[in-house]
Amino acid sequence: MPQVLSLGELLVEVMRPAVDQPLDEPGQFMGPFPSGAPAIFIDAVARLGVSCGFIGVVGNDPFGKCVLRRLREDGVDVKHVRVVSHRTTGIAFVAYRSDGSRQFLFHLPQSAAALLAPEDVREDYLHDVRALHITGSALSISESAREACYRAARLCKQRGAMVSFDPNIRPELLGVDTVRTLCEPVLQLCDILLPSGQEATMLTGDADEETACYNLVARGIPIVVLKRGAQGCIVVTDQHRTEIPAYPVEEVDPTGAGDAFAGGFVVAMLHGMSVTEAARFASVIGALAVTRQGPMEGLPTLAEVETFLSSV
Ligand code: ATP
Ligand code: MG
Repeated sequence: MPQVLSLGELLVEVMRPAVDQPLDEPGQFMGPFPSGAPAIFIDAVARLGVSCGFIGVVGNDPFGKCVLRRLREDGVDVKHVRVVSHRTTGIAFVAYRSDGSRQFLFHLPQSAAALLAPEDVREDYLHDVRALHITGSALSISESAREACYRAARLCKQRGAMVSFDPNIRPELLGVDTVRTLCEPVLQLCDILLPSGQEATMLTGDADEETACYNLVARGIPIVVLKRGAQGCIVVTDQHRTEIPAYPVEEVDPTGAGDAFAGGFVVAMLHGMSVTEAARFASVIGALAVTRQGPMEGLPTLAEVETFLSSV
């Protein structure tokens, strides 16, 4: 039985190979690359050698096969991934702009991923669980997927597992009030919150990201890690605030860095590292994740982490 679990969208990503090739014009695409925020997280955990499993739904099609093969090969238990014939696997199209921003086009609410439901979260699968990771993206695919996440969080928490939460919901689509409402049940029970960009201020209404993190700790979340891309991260607890710089790497594809970082952080905490050590370890995983095209392609094994650390 897996020690680390995640659930939510499994999808493939298809991206423009160069910057400033918008999605509304004919041109080249690269992919499919296995993706989905909670799937990137769990793949990072698997590559770091910790037993883990995923709960989700794919279509009975080549894209579903592509994602499942990757997870399986990396050691993720996929027994609880359902394969359905009447819907296709989720897809995300991504284009990069030269200002660093990204344009996404998701085929998700209509995809197999949206069929995830509370019944998919089976209590007997949680027997050995020590950590569960929830993503805002999974809370927003469908109502049934959201209820599945809430159920998993409640059950894992009752079993004494650590719950981590990446509130990566896009407020452009749903509006800030809805995003807060959807996140609230997970905020109430999570042990680790990993916001990036404007997600922390979106949750609290503060003007400043760090103030938002302090307020999230003040409301009872033990560990808040603010991810800041190439600027590193800031860890806030009620004991301390620690800034950890990013490792210098050449960024090829930034997508998935946050999920990779979260996987590294959870693994480090399970190995008994301090919060600061865990954030340093996670920074290595995030840095290596951006060095390859495709969100899972750069995820390192422990041996690759060691090689990297001896080279910097
Ligand atoms: P995503 O792009 O998947 O939404 P995110 O925005 O949630 O990710 P980031 O802040 O981009 O998360 O990345 C998480 C962590 O990974 C950073 O805090 C940093 O430690 C590391 N990281 C990200 N980008 C880089 C980079 N260009 N160079 C070095 N480290 C990076
Ligand atoms: Mg980023």
